[in-house]
Amino acid sequence: MPIVNCKRCGKIFRKTAGDLCAECIKEEGEILETIRAYLKQNPLSSLAEVSDATDVSVEDITDLIQAGMLRLTDFPHMSVECQGCGTPIQQGRYCSRCKELLRTKLADAAKVLKQPTKERESKNKGFYSL
Ligand SMILES: [Zn+2]
Ligand SMILES: [Zn+2]
Repeated sequence: MPIVNCKRCGKIFRKTAGDLCAECIKEEGEILETIRAYLKQNPLSSLAEVSDATDVSVEDITDLIQAGMLRLTDFPHMSVECQGCGTPIQQGRYCSRCKELLRTKLADAAKVLKQPTKERESKNKGFYSL
């Protein structure tokens, strides 16, 4: 098993599953439970309110949401910002529009790589003027 640094506390541990050491996995589980319990009783809370009430930083809650560990479907006032355009979203890192855009960009980049240099230049100009 490879030895890696825990993504959360930086401690060195033997990697099994995921990027967190056993202590952080446990801690994160407890944090999740706290947030879930609070949201169950206060489903109309915002991210800031949950952070205040549970003593978990907005960043940490955002991480959990982006990692897909905290689902927001029942909590209309909870959201994180799309990393592409800033639109409030309730799951993942990007809104559906940015996801589609990224997908297209990736497909385009793959196409561009296959094209001869001259064509690639003109294609790039159009691409960046968007
Ligand atoms: Zn850790
Ligand atoms: Zn977006």
